[in-house]
Amino acid sequence: MQLVFELSRPGRRGVKWPSCDVPREEPQRLIPRRHLASGPPPLPELVEPDVVRHYVNLSTQNMSVDTHTYPLGSCTMKYNPKRNDAWASLPGFAQVHPYQPEHSIQGLLQLLYELQEYLAEIGGLDAVSLQPAAGAQGELTALLVAAAWFRDHQRELGPRSKVLIPDSAHGTNPASAAMAGFRAVTIRSNSRGLVDLEDLQQKLDDQVAVFMITNPNTLGLFETQIKQIADMVHQRGGLLYLDGANMNAILGITRPGDFGADMMHFNPHKTFSGPHGAGGPGAGPIAVRKHLAPYLPVPVVVRTPEGRYRLDYQRPQSIGQVRSFFGNVGVLVRAYAYIRTHGPEGLRRVSEDAVLNANYLLSLVKHFLPVPYGPRCMHEFVATAQKLKQERGISAMDLAKRLLDFGFHAPTVYFPITVRESMMIEPTETESKESLDALAQVLFRITEEAPELLHEAPHSIWISRPDEVRAARRPVLKWTPEEAAR
Ligand SMILES: *Cc1c(COP(=O)(O)O)cnc(C)c1O
Repeated sequence: MQLVFELSRPGRRGVKWPSCDVPREEPQRLIPRRHLASGPPPLPELVEPDVVRHYVNLSTQNMSVDTHTYPLGSCTMKYNPKRNDAWASLPGFAQVHPYQPEHSIQGLLQLLYELQEYLAEIGGLDAVSLQPAAGAQGELTALLVAAAWFRDHQRELGPRSKVLIPDSAHGTNPASAAMAGFRAVTIRSNSRGLVDLEDLQQKLDDQVAVFMITNPNTLGLFETQIKQIADMVHQRGGLLYLDGANMNAILGITRPGDFGADMMHFNPHKTFSGPHGAGGPGAGPIAVRKHLAPYLPVPVVVRTPEGRYRLDYQRPQSIGQVRSFFGNVGVLVRAYAYIRTHGPEGLRRVSEDAVLNANYLLSLVKHFLPVPYGPRCMHEFVATAQKLKQERGISAMDLAKRLLDFGFHAPTVYFPITVRESMMIEPTETESKESLDALAQVLFRITEEAPELLHEAPHSIWISRPDEVRAARRPVLKWTPEEAAR
């Protein structure tokens, strides 16, 4: 497929401008010369049908939850109900101006207030901030809250410089710890894929501020020792942080606050069905225990005794603002709609079905792709292509790429790094038994194919094997004639 710049022909136009009906001025008279461009910008020149066809054709090259099964582990790519989009698009939510007076946005503020309450209840914690704009920013925000709390309690607790993180954690955890000014220290996993308590015991000293844990962890296992871990951390004066991106397995079944977490973030764009990836901005609300609440970012949505809703900026201990205004409202409205649609029983059912689907798929897949930390899982599981790689030279990447030819989005591969040739598969509760059967069948069929066919897959899509390392290290996000000539 050609780039829109390659379709450009000098002089082609898609619009007709009306002739100028005000006196013309020399631009230099209005704008200082040094601010003037030297010529027109190098924009593509096309007629309207070319533009429309180009972008419509491009859009059909995408894989999405609306078009394909999308078992991307740790990302919870569940179906995004369309009515949530419709509600988020209501003018009272979508057209609000951030400087509008509070009395004119009482409905929106009530929704945000109630969402804070629901998330506190789901997390088993006391206070919520809806501000952070993504899971990773939620992690950073919560760690800044922790840092502020330790700063105020230095006399009793001493200086705290470390954040402990299991080796199976999402990469954002150590990154957030470093950004918040802590040193990230890795805790090993044991042979069962759970936190190695001996390693934790050794590294848990009085320099530790926070232990960040993901539960269920990224291997799809529930950390059954979580209560003991929480006690160990608390005895040392540390805080337990729960990475709640993967709440999809435990909604209404257990609550982080009940198993000892002091703070957590949610990923509404995963658990509560907001679109993500290129589909829309996410959010990363955080929930904390009462003693940490004064440090939450401003504004917090509060309810007055008269039953009005306000944005409270008067919180002297707050770490400040981490995002403009009141957060990514669109995805928060969708999360609210999702939670209200399901209700408490329904949310529990979501998690039960997500776990059931993942276990069903695991039971099919393990016969040809071993699952080292089976035999059961929570919302996802990690299979390995290591044997296939050793015996036939077929890698996890080959399998992932070949799946695209059969109309399935690839699972997450090479994460977590604790499993070689890993394929992290998360079907979610919104896939039917038929689509799970089809996915398992295709995966099996692929493992039997000729290695040469797999090394060159995918064969059916425009872009097959981009240089991912170069794309990450030297991203080219803008077309220029110089880049095009490279
Ligand atoms: C997705 C995810 C994150 C980061 O969330 P973003 O919204 O992508 O920033 C953090 N931890 C885990 C376990 C995740 O799956």
